Amino acid sequence: MDMMSVRPALSGKTYFIRTFGCQMNLHDSERVAGLLDACGCLEAADPAGADIVIFMTCCVREAADQRLYGQCNSCKSLPAPPSGTRVVAVGGCIAQRDGEGLLTNVDNVNVIFGTHAIAHVGELIAQAFEDGGRHVSIAEDETLAAVSMPWHRETVYHAWVPIMTGCNNFCSYCIVPYVRGREKSRPFEEVIDEVSALVRSGVREVTLLGQNVNSYGRDRYGAPRFAELLRKVGETGIERIRFTSSHPKDLLPETIDAMAETPAVMPHLHLAVQSGSTRILKEMNRRYTREDYLDLVRRVRDRIPGIALTTDIIVGFPGETEEDFEETLSLAREVGYAQAFTFIYSRREGTPAAAIVDPTPHEVIQERFDRLVKVIEDTAYEFNQGELHATVPVLVEGASKKNTRVLQGKSPKNQTVHAPIPEGLHIEDLIGKIVDVRVDTARTWYLSGTVTGDPR
Ligand code: SAM
Ligand code: SF4
Repeated sequence: MDMMSVRPALSGKTYFIRTFGCQMNLHDSERVAGLLDACGCLEAADPAGADIVIFMTCCVREAADQRLYGQCNSCKSLPAPPSGTRVVAVGGCIAQRDGEGLLTNVDNVNVIFGTHAIAHVGELIAQAFEDGGRHVSIAEDETLAAVSMPWHRETVYHAWVPIMTGCNNFCSYCIVPYVRGREKSRPFEEVIDEVSALVRSGVREVTLLGQNVNSYGRDRYGAPRFAELLRKVGETGIERIRFTSSHPKDLLPETIDAMAETPAVMPHLHLAVQSGSTRILKEMNRRYTREDYLDLVRRVRDRIPGIALTTDIIVGFPGETEEDFEETLSLAREVGYAQAFTFIYSRREGTPAAAIVDPTPHEVIQERFDRLVKVIEDTAYEFNQGELHATVPVLVEGASKKNTRVLQGKSPKNQTVHAPIPEGLHIEDLIGKIVDVRVDTARTWYLSGTVTGDPR
């Protein structure tokens, strides 16, 4: 069946997608939008104006479930859509995990499509319009890889490029391997061809995506080929390369070399540590120690001086003691993270950690979390001071939310940078351009300064 042909039931219908969770989900949403565009649908500005409302869900932490139920229910009170009928669809990780079971928590959902069923989204929604029934698809479909289908990019200058899906690591707290399945790498040439096509269409920055990009290729070629992939992507003419996520246990020396020797690879590495305590890391099944991690950081910094390191940290893993937590604080200070995503542990049914009983009161965990946030604020502030009085090339994303006369963009180290829009220029002319900014202020979460020279 041709999934992308215009279907009478979909032609001219409007759609709105709300996305929760990680970059992989953001990209999945772009694929869903691309498929609906190819079916003759049009994007709406808000759910009220949409015949089709889609929620792309995340189940990594608990709060997301409740939020989804609330969002689905709120669709009931929306005004009638342009076509008179509204189809509500749920995709992503909660859909994959719960399948039909989701229908018991939300009674107005018409379509449920799992992470493996994105390619079928048009067909499922068309059926819901045609027969008014409820349609669920969470089966794995080997014949249709959604990652090879057209997609609708959020921006013209940046693209997410999934290089693999799934995860083999089974960290003891994490649900991802259960809902996203095992690691599956895309063919090397397909990724390179895709990036080359993006370069031809004006994209300047790509982010290579996977749960564990360092093991890219292992399933397909018998050995990881991430280092080689970075070098080859660097030869396509793309100006900026980023990637995420990188598991510390799989970051090979040859990958660090490839990062150092490929000019387009940006001097930024997201290296999730999760905890600074070797004992907790073992319980988490991360397969590295505190010392391994710190040694890796030293090796990365030796090869790429000044690199920005960012991380993910979980506070309150079952059984974490004050001593364990203090080891996380000291590791964060020692590394000097430029930024960190910090999470309070969330019990996920079906994972090994869910079976560990933990008497630690929530207030204690919250208080530790707040202390960690303070330390990260300090390290981020310190890190940004290194850019004071430097001139940094900034890829412009748009105007600052607070002041439309100020541009906002990203430095090579992924810092947010603000600068007044130069006289005679408009933000529309600058989006997707690179401007040099001389930094005169470095705060915790942004740099600001003055544009020098011409945009390019
Ligand atoms: N594969 C990526 C990696 O290992 O770097 C991470 C993907 S996961 C979607 C993003 C982050 O969510 C993890 O790095 C972890 O810090 C956090 N996370 C995962 N499961 C969690 C849980 N049960 N409770 C709290 N945070 C969790
Ligand atoms: Fe989850 Fe660990 Fe896989 Fe990341 S590496 S997705 S944290 S199991």
